[in-house]
Amino acid sequence: MSSTLGGLKPGHLWRYFEEICGIPHCSGNEKALAQHILETAAGLGLEARKDKVGNVIVRKKATPGREKALGVILQGHMDMVGDKNSDVAHDFAKDPIRPSIKGEWVQADGTTLGADNGIGLAASLAVMEEKELVHGPLEFLFTVDEETGLTGANKLEKGVLKGKYLLNLDSEEEGTFTIGCAGGADSVVTLPLKRKAAAAKSLYRLKVAGLRGGHSGIDIHQGRANAIKLVARLLAGAADRHRFELVGIEGGNKRNAIPRESWAVLAIEPAGARALGAYFKKAFEDVRVEFKTVETGARIEFEKIEGAKEYPMDAASRKALIGLLVALPHGVISMHPEIPGLTETSTNLAIIQTEKKQVQIICSTRSSIASALGATRGVLKAVCELAGARIQLNDGYPGWMPDLQSTLLAKLKEIYRATAGKEPGVVAIHAGLECGIIGEKYPGMEMISFGPTLEHPHSPDERVNIGSVGRFWEFIKAALAGLAQ
Ligand SMILES: [Zn+2]
Repeated sequence: MSSTLGGLKPGHLWRYFEEICGIPHCSGNEKALAQHILETAAGLGLEARKDKVGNVIVRKKATPGREKALGVILQGHMDMVGDKNSDVAHDFAKDPIRPSIKGEWVQADGTTLGADNGIGLAASLAVMEEKELVHGPLEFLFTVDEETGLTGANKLEKGVLKGKYLLNLDSEEEGTFTIGCAGGADSVVTLPLKRKAAAAKSLYRLKVAGLRGGHSGIDIHQGRANAIKLVARLLAGAADRHRFELVGIEGGNKRNAIPRESWAVLAIEPAGARALGAYFKKAFEDVRVEFKTVETGARIEFEKIEGAKEYPMDAASRKALIGLLVALPHGVISMHPEIPGLTETSTNLAIIQTEKKQVQIICSTRSSIASALGATRGVLKAVCELAGARIQLNDGYPGWMPDLQSTLLAKLKEIYRATAGKEPGVVAIHAGLECGIIGEKYPGMEMISFGPTLEHPHSPDERVNIGSVGRFWEFIKAALAGLAQ
């Protein structure tokens, strides 16, 4: 294979990265890459195996004299997200990624690069190859399908890993250690409806649209509006002043997205429509003030529509539904007391769908503390019971509670100071990571995630900073040596 990254340092890391680019490896299609890693390990004389779900585990013996050091695990995920510009012909199942150097960066040719997490894998392979490193007993964990379901971490068997410290190499900002993530779980709420026997009135649709939405973990603290909550609020205000019947409410389309649009179908006596429309307009202008710098594109529509599938719900069902939506919590529940800017617990009122005999609502709750997650779901449950709704509390995925007192954190901070000459950033994120899941299976394991600087992962603009990869490598070497003391 001709090399375009051949001149970059460290040479072996970039050589492994270029090999990885040559093997298609989107989520669900990691077999060939797993095989390549197994063969590379065998070629280096290292013990390697693949588990039932497809994760690869490699072991490397300690440098002579360091056998008693606590074991270290280097971990990354084998899969990548495949995305391309519309004018690029690329089959992610068959075609290699074509990396190239653009100034200080490596990027692909109109596609995702797969530096997330290919650079982390390449660093692991380079550590596997290196003869000059000082280290304790090492394990390398290459997981499958992180991007679409955290499947490899979820199906990882207990007891396979022996190490005490896990270094996850899947972070995107050089000089920042990630030390925690949120766990999460969805709740499915079902409110039974009773409908009237006839619809003699005109139908109107009240719609809230143009909101920013965003990721229900990463963006939940940004003060963005929830379209479903806004519709409920407008209906609750109108119910005290105007006559209308409710046919249904719809909104949201993803469990992990803040809903951007929502609408209600109303049945109204034609004579009352104007006054009701004017009320919604005025009430919405009042609400907009709360979000005026954030939701600049927010708008409502109130228009007559033809023919609804169902008759209006009866007065008791209408009252229960509007009350339920007003009372169900949405947004940040608590911020972390020690880590500035970190949302500790939040809940997203994500989706509502109305059927003939029931309404279904999905709420997605996150927290880095299991008990706080449970408490917030307890609030959802209590609200549902008061409104006469059923709630199904689905199983979730575990969080990773930040431990500012961890020995691993203290050691890596010291090593980072010594190698980089500055203090590392220490953060936690309000979304799921593999560490949360692995940590639950290995109680007592200390974990930290770090990496070189990556921009725009999961998009065709993905790129990795060349200088940061060199410093990332130097830090890994220093960390392994320091942890083997
Ligand atoms: Zn990743």
